Amino acid sequence: MTFDDAAILAELDDLRRADAPTHGGRVLSYVYDSGMPELDELAAQASRRMQSVNGLDPTTFTSVAALEREVVAFARDILGGDEGVVGSVTSGGTESCLLAVRTARDLWRAAGGIGTPRIVAPVTAHAAFRKAAELFELAFDPVPVSPETGTVEPSAIIERLGPDVALVVVSAPSYPFAAMDPIAPVAAACAASGISCHVDACIGGWILPFWPDAAARPGWDLRVPGVTSLSADLHKYGYAPKGVSVPLHRGRDRHRAQYFATTDWPGYPVVNPTLLGSKSAGALAAAWAIIRALGVEGFAQLAGRAARATAALQAAVAGIEGCGWSEPRPARCSRWRPTSRCRRSAASTRTTGPIRRALPGGCSRATRTRAGRRHPSSAYDASDRDAGDRVGAARAGAGARRRRGCRARHPVGRSRRRARGDAGRHARAA
Ligand SMILES: *Cc1c(COP(=O)(O)O)cnc(C)c1O
Repeated sequence: MTFDDAAILAELDDLRRADAPTHGGRVLSYVYDSGMPELDELAAQASRRMQSVNGLDPTTFTSVAALEREVVAFARDILGGDEGVVGSVTSGGTESCLLAVRTARDLWRAAGGIGTPRIVAPVTAHAAFRKAAELFELAFDPVPVSPETGTVEPSAIIERLGPDVALVVVSAPSYPFAAMDPIAPVAAACAASGISCHVDACIGGWILPFWPDAAARPGWDLRVPGVTSLSADLHKYGYAPKGVSVPLHRGRDRHRAQYFATTDWPGYPVVNPTLLGSKSAGALAAAWAIIRALGVEGFAQLAGRAARATAALQAAVAGIEGCGWSEPRPARCSRWRPTSRCRRSAASTRTTGPIRRALPGGCSRATRTRAGRRHPSSAYDASDRDAGDRVGAARAGAGARRRRGCRARHPVGRSRRRARGDAGRHARAA
């Protein structure tokens, strides 16, 4: 058979040209660019070598077991786990979070829980936990956070604990506001009541351990007593291509509860430590190669670079008239909260062509034009409303989050030009 590989690839290149840029630091979400082309190339080569492998069966493809073992061991070390901590490699944060929930639910049931179990989590916990609640039939009980800081009082979580709680989720840090949840006191309360406590470090797990400012990370990892599981995505600050994350459990018994196994069908014996059956080992190999190449030193260097860039960006934004930081934050400081004046100027700016195209799905000029009407965070504080109001608040919140997302990633018009000018000045001054 013959085919025109050049033409096929040219067509793919054409399609790719319409995508947002994955390198160069202009897209502050979705992609996690190490800024090292040689590291990308190593990852691509590693992934290529695994192309025909099926990660389903590490007894047939023993390379998969070896890579997984090394990646989990490295993760365990940087995330404060001892000998008793075990884990897996999954396809991403969502899968890691789903597994944490299903495991906690099954352990809760095994301990005698009956009826519908509850997940207690700050409202800022990643939506993957709401997905898990829906899929695995748990109730999701969101705890409001401060609209000013995005943080939550430990007591607000602890007072909701009870025998029907199968899992408490805290984030390190939260995706929406980069706030560190009060992990130590919450985990201690969970331990006292025998409740599972998951730390969602999907975004922080591969950068917090290396962040230069230690004060930005009070006890948050597996060294904290009472933390029973933790998730950390390699396809974020592990700089790996999409499709790789690590869920860790305290203790083999917890990890075993994550597995699905059956011989009760006419096919092969099924032993799945994660949700997928047949799966790629490409991103796993890429992540493994990146860990080998960078080591602790390399990760620390890249984290240091990100910290300096964050400080520069922060200074530049602070210099924009009418805009400011709500508060310095660890790890992900790339979101700013516009003051009302800044919002007005953003709302009145027309967005065209390339900028509009670069906006994530669902964002349009029309949604941004309404941006000034309410404080983006106000919809989060929905504690005492009745159910009907909550649906409304959730809808409004989704809109506000979408709008905030647009502005945060792509400051428009005047602010954008000023930001550029200021950043330029800053760079020249530095
Ligand atoms: C990214 C992320 C997730 C979900 O991960 P995916 O890899 O997008 O599936 C969950 N929690 C947090 C805190 C995240 O940043």
